[in-house]
Amino acid sequence: MQSTTAQQLVTQLQHLGITDDRVLAAIANVPRQYFVDEAIAHQAWENTALPIGFGQTISQPYIVALMTEELIRHSPQSVLEVGTGSGYQTAVLAQLIPHVFSVERIKSLQYQARRRLQRLDFHNVAMRHGDGWAGWKSKAPFDAIIVTAAAETIPASLLDQLADGGRMIIPVGEQNQELLLIEKIGNRTRKEVLGAVRFVPLIPGELI
Ligand code: SAH
Repeated sequence: MQSTTAQQLVTQLQHLGITDDRVLAAIANVPRQYFVDEAIAHQAWENTALPIGFGQTISQPYIVALMTEELIRHSPQSVLEVGTGSGYQTAVLAQLIPHVFSVERIKSLQYQARRRLQRLDFHNVAMRHGDGWAGWKSKAPFDAIIVTAAAETIPASLLDQLADGGRMIIPVGEQNQELLLIEKIGNRTRKEVLGAVRFVPLIPGELI
């Protein structure tokens, strides 16, 4: 059996409604096989989530594309990503947004992601081992925030660190999760539900 290629994945994403050519090109340009274990590398271009160890997953390419498409509508100059994981979503963002900041609570995943991005020559990414629930205060405000793990509630610290006019994409909920798009307009926020999703939980506090 032949494995799915980058072009086939792009075609699938187009059929699912992804229209932004910049996003499709960014996805086609990231060798997803580098972000998973060699044993499952043949599945890397499939439109599915895959395990990355520690009970975590690299997100489904369609979800990565959807979140990225919504996030870059206002041409953000900076983005905070909470939940680096494999660094795959980070690599997609790094091609579209000038300054990328990414926080991960599992040291070993953070270390591997950093090495992958260095190897692929992405130099506009700053990474940190830390609790993303608290954001990254010294680098705030961010024009965009993307959370790649499901939060029980919207973390107030992340809303604080979002720039005026900025956009945050975050899955919220436990069993039934919704992907929310939150826009900050002065002291107000506008919320839109983008759809039902299934992410691993965002775990506040303790690091490993
Ligand atoms: N975007 C990732 C998806 C990773 S899964 C990718 O493309 O591979 C979600 C990640 O969020 C996991 O690696 C998990 O360890 C991390 N995470 C969960 N709670 C966190 C927290 N409070 N702070 C930072 N990272 C967290």
